[in-house]
Amino acid sequence: MGKINDVDVINGEGFQLSTLDKVIASARANSVWPLPFATSCCGIEYMASMGSNYDLARFGMERMSFSPRQADLLIVAGTISKKLGPVLKQVYEQMSEPKWVLSVGACACSGGIFDTYSVLQGIDRIIPVDVYVPGCPPRPEQIIDGIMNIHKLVKTESLRRRYSDEYKHLLESYNIESNAE
Ligand code: SF4
Repeated sequence: MGKINDVDVINGEGFQLSTLDKVIASARANSVWPLPFATSCCGIEYMASMGSNYDLARFGMERMSFSPRQADLLIVAGTISKKLGPVLKQVYEQMSEPKWVLSVGACACSGGIFDTYSVLQGIDRIIPVDVYVPGCPPRPEQIIDGIMNIHKLVKTESLRRRYSDEYKHLLESYNIESNAE
């Protein structure tokens, strides 16, 4: 028994064995294509995490996708006004399964200091969130920690999760139709 890139493998002479779901999960986790939905200050911290000091490329994540259809991780960084809510939801709906959501900073997680009539009090009111990163703003290290928690989720997620009743109910509770095929 051994491990390659966190995947359990059995080594033999001239062969290596693992299970298909573990290999697929590892490939997904090491080639996440993020879609940055950055609206304000937290977005700048996210940009810093892409720079040479923090270097997200070392996780296979240097390819930003500004098209929802070619992205599997939605990173929401910044204040989301209620007016912008439907746009964010549409972007989420346009992403193919499997997809994950990282909420970066107090504003995206809970509205932050903007407890006002115009600001959404947390993006989880309109789309499901997988990992929350607290802080106002969070430092790039915290954002990378959040991304690594997303990687853990991706690596351990069953291939069947997106077809499960539990997942369908979760999306239904947000009035979102599953596009898992
Ligand atoms: S959490 Fe703080 S730093 Fe981030 S967008 Fe809101 S006000 Fe700006």
